[in-house]
Amino acid sequence: MNALPPFPSTLGTQDIGIARAAVIGAGSMGSGIAAQFANAGIPVDLLDIKGTGASPNGPAEAGIERQSKANGFMHPAAAQLVRPGNIEDDLQRLSEADWIIEAVVERLDVKRDLYGKIDRVRKKGSVVSSNTSTIPRADLIAEQGPAFAADFLITHFFNPPRVMRLVEIVSASENSPELVQRAKAASHSILGKTVVDCHDTPGFIANRIGCYWLAVAALEAKSMGLTVEEADAVMAAFGSPRTGAFGLLDLIGIDLIPHVWGSLMSALPASDGIHAYDLPSDLTVQGMIAAGHLGRKAKSGFYRVNADKTREALDLSTGLYRPEAPLDAASLPGKGRDLAALLQSDDRLGRYAWRVLSRLIAYTAEVGPEIAKDVAAIDTAMELGYAWREGPFKLAERCGIEQLAERLKQDGGDVPALLASALKNGGFYAKDTSLPLRTDGARAQATDHSSDLALPAIKFRRPKILGNEGASLWDAGNGVTCFEIHTKMNSLTPAVFDALDQSLQKTASDFRGLVIGNDNPRVFSAGADLSYFVDLVRKEDWAALSAFLSRGQDLFMRVKHAPFPVVAAVAGLALGGGCELMLHCDAIVAHAELAVGLPETKVGIVPGWGGCTQLMLRTQERGSDPVMNVQRAFNTILTGAPSSSALDAWEKGLLRSSDAIVMNPDDLLGRAVARAASLADARYRAPEPATISLSGSAGKDALMERIHKQRETLRLTETDIIVAETLASVLTGAALSRDTASENDMLALEREAVLALAKTPATRERIEHMLATGKPLRN
Ligand code: NAD
Repeated sequence: MNALPPFPSTLGTQDIGIARAAVIGAGSMGSGIAAQFANAGIPVDLLDIKGTGASPNGPAEAGIERQSKANGFMHPAAAQLVRPGNIEDDLQRLSEADWIIEAVVERLDVKRDLYGKIDRVRKKGSVVSSNTSTIPRADLIAEQGPAFAADFLITHFFNPPRVMRLVEIVSASENSPELVQRAKAASHSILGKTVVDCHDTPGFIANRIGCYWLAVAALEAKSMGLTVEEADAVMAAFGSPRTGAFGLLDLIGIDLIPHVWGSLMSALPASDGIHAYDLPSDLTVQGMIAAGHLGRKAKSGFYRVNADKTREALDLSTGLYRPEAPLDAASLPGKGRDLAALLQSDDRLGRYAWRVLSRLIAYTAEVGPEIAKDVAAIDTAMELGYAWREGPFKLAERCGIEQLAERLKQDGGDVPALLASALKNGGFYAKDTSLPLRTDGARAQATDHSSDLALPAIKFRRPKILGNEGASLWDAGNGVTCFEIHTKMNSLTPAVFDALDQSLQKTASDFRGLVIGNDNPRVFSAGADLSYFVDLVRKEDWAALSAFLSRGQDLFMRVKHAPFPVVAAVAGLALGGGCELMLHCDAIVAHAELAVGLPETKVGIVPGWGGCTQLMLRTQERGSDPVMNVQRAFNTILTGAPSSSALDAWEKGLLRSSDAIVMNPDDLLGRAVARAASLADARYRAPEPATISLSGSAGKDALMERIHKQRETLRLTETDIIVAETLASVLTGAALSRDTASENDMLALEREAVLALAKTPATRERIEHMLATGKPLRN
């Protein structure tokens, strides 16, 4: 397939005003940010220092290479959009960029020197920003003139840039609102990030609070005599990442503690609470650095994995390693789930939990007004920058802010002003509207970033049209309905089918378009309810199984041939039946990180709800060579691996070039509703019944010849070969002895194939194993 993939930039981001970008510094951050621009389809220059000898662009090329290896690119074609260069020969290229991001080493002198050079070549009005993690904006631009200052921001991305959702932005009154808005819109829609506004203070929000938390968690654990495992289990009960504090310090790298914490501490006044927790001066930390126990990269830090795979942990009192003794969350007071019970417990773990949480909340409330406009900015920064389940203010609300304030007073401490305001105003978040408290103590007004087209807003505004325990239909406005599946993993149960059936009827009578999607960015639908399927197989109730297959096929064909447009808004997992449902929609709006696939072969069957048929149709739309088309569909289904991105899903034939990819999952539903409405506006007509070109038994033989040749290398089992042969028969229509087939012909082949395979003991074993373990069986 030679066509270019449908990069997000081809639809929907042109009006932002960032058509070309440049990143200076091709280290882990710069090369990752450049890759993310490229993933969106935005061409980008990546400049680093000049390399030696014959490779002047060597350092920048190495950055691109690193991103290729580290999955920074969503598609190989994205890597082609990054043009390597060096700051000596290629600085002039910056004149083409609408946004220049500096991501060089964290040294003020180096950054300042670069800004002078950038300013001489950049085009007027281009955004210039720094990815600094600690240096305040005012210091960075102290030597620049007002024109540069007016266009300069801090945009602080997190590592790795493809994965981490947060970008902290620091702007100033000298920036024009239009420029700030442009950078925010590009961060949101091109780079897929959630923007949090920060004040211009050291460490901004996430690292300021995160570093404080890690220092308190580590040093209090040591002084209260906890083991690293105990402390990490308590932190995980707070909803911090599973690593806990010590595990996270290992991940960051113990050798970075003097730099990161050191520079933060030296930038903050002596009155700041962080000075009470001097992590760089801690003797354990210093001893670890001296001994080379630098964390995960050295395979030894607070935790150590030995060559024989045995795991050890550092004894904080002796500084020696001993066998790791993980603490099960269930053995914590409150079983690791009830935070209030943990905090009330008078044992060591309970007292430690209170000590860390009370310090954290008191500190965050104290510095809140200095670092952010409202409490939501701080909570969001910690949730997205440090992967906490809930930020500190939400945690405080979960514990009860009255009890919290009371206990702070009992401890002889003050109640910080922000906590006092929350007590007076009915919480950090308003009970009815969820609007956050501003850090000046007043309630925030409804802000522009709450989208009217997010599903929670739709649910809040309009009553449900219909629904049952499996799915609901909502009025998304503009004449479009939204079908939301809400079973476990959004799996397709008979109740979901009932609701879909009714939703098709209701939309046909009262609306003009339907969107299928939900507000869970992690799962669109994990597919058919396997337990229902296996129940029929166990009972050998082949008539019921056949009816179950037909019901899904009929329903999905009604989705496809509905008299109104149906648009799938897909994010996260869309597997098996979930993928098949998507394939029947007129259009797809997909989140860029989509994991879509047809893994049926892993349970010994082939897709039976039209997946084979619709994938054949999609692949044949793309190319004129029927052999290539069937090969692509065959590979996609046989490997069964979910796509690594939406662009990869396009490569696998699952998305069309006309389908839209969005970088930010928050944009998904709005874009899908708009697409459904515009299809309806354009006098929508349901697709005509389609014809599939068949490659017949010659095609099947060609597919199987390759399979037999690759049998060894792909480590295919006997069952794999049988499933492959059945799949090849369906996709080539070998048994039909014709050149073409209708969709209904193909659907009949799918049903027969699933039934035939379901009757074999090997398939049954695979299904039972998957149900019991969640893992495929290689039999
Ligand atoms: P890094 O050390 O991996 O890469 C820095 C790159 O800058 C190197 O490739 C180096 O050759 C290049 N460089 C140095 N001087 C240069 C110059 N004058 N012109 C062009 N290139 C030059 O560093 P990193 O981790 O990618 O960090 C870059 C910036 O991002 C720093 O300001 C850092 O504080 C910040 N940051 C880092 C992280 C992180 O987790 N690593 C997270 C957020 C922000």
